[in-house]
Amino acid sequence: MSLACYAAKPHETLGRLHQEPAEPTQSGRNPFQRDRDRIIHSTAFRRLEYKTQVFLNHEGDHFRTRLTHSLEVAQIGRAVARRLQLNEDLVEAISLAHDLGHTPFGHAGQDALNECMKEHGGFEHNLQSLWVVDFLEERYAKWNGLNLSFETREGILKHCARRNALLIEAQEPGGVASRFLKGTQPSLEAQLCNLADAIAYNAHDIDDGVRSGLLTMEQMQDVSLFARYHAQTLAEYPQLQGRRVLYETIRRMLSDQVYDVINATRAALQQHAPASADEARQCPALVQFSAAMYEESKALKSFLFRNLYRHPQVMQTTDGARAVVKDLFNVYLDKPQEMPAAYAQRSDVPRAVADYLSGMTDRFATREHARLTA
Ligand code: MG
Repeated sequence: MSLACYAAKPHETLGRLHQEPAEPTQSGRNPFQRDRDRIIHSTAFRRLEYKTQVFLNHEGDHFRTRLTHSLEVAQIGRAVARRLQLNEDLVEAISLAHDLGHTPFGHAGQDALNECMKEHGGFEHNLQSLWVVDFLEERYAKWNGLNLSFETREGILKHCARRNALLIEAQEPGGVASRFLKGTQPSLEAQLCNLADAIAYNAHDIDDGVRSGLLTMEQMQDVSLFARYHAQTLAEYPQLQGRRVLYETIRRMLSDQVYDVINATRAALQQHAPASADEARQCPALVQFSAAMYEESKALKSFLFRNLYRHPQVMQTTDGARAVVKDLFNVYLDKPQEMPAAYAQRSDVPRAVADYLSGMTDRFATREHARLTA
């Protein structure tokens, strides 16, 4: 498949932080494929299996975890990339890495850790994902981290507060944080991963929400994006029952959003006509939904926020999770020697605690909590 002129080209990569010998030609891997492979072999990637997306990891065998979520983001991202002739390998690498910096216990854990770190520079999961691949992973003799390409790192750093952008820029002038200071966009592949992330969680959270019994199909009728395909499904298959109705509806909803992104983005690309990947960075965000789909997707997201993420039963388990994170933070702050040596020996104790804690899986955090607070 040939790449469009505005796609990221492996041979034009801005390179890695540490110079490496060129890939042996017989391996045939380009830099973004190497990045993907490094991510898949990382410890942080394996931990995604035991980190909560919405439902705590042990609540059921079929709910999404951060790992299956990341795989779904990669699938949606690659499908769109192929149609737009964007770089599929780069999309895959960014998608698989995009949640590496997430704490245990989903958003509750993230909020709790952010609160604990308020006096110490805060905690941002996007920045943490970059920190994981740049520093925390220990795979190489010569350097910290995975030494990924600029383009993959640029995609991982989806948001960044100005204060942190200035700190990164000071260490890496013109690097991955520059765009937050200049107000430009990341590559089209990075933009696509953001949208694929939203499409994936909106769809799979309906699925998990209904199967858990916390959301009902009747309730979902308030969401036009769902109601439309639900009605369409029942009109075509009046006898259809149970889960198949749900899956057929979600499947149609998902593919329509994918086609919507493809069409809306094609139109934007035609209008702005970027002639290179770098020109695309100077344009407004071009990977997008149509205006109508954007509104519907936003409505679905806020429905899920109100009815699922804030559901009393979800809140109850996440309140417990928040307490675990806060307790652990305070214990390690007080007794850094309870952490492995690599963390205990660092001079910035709060940051070392945040790094150690955010890397934990749900079950490891729960075990540590029992060990240290019994
Ligand atoms: Mg995500």
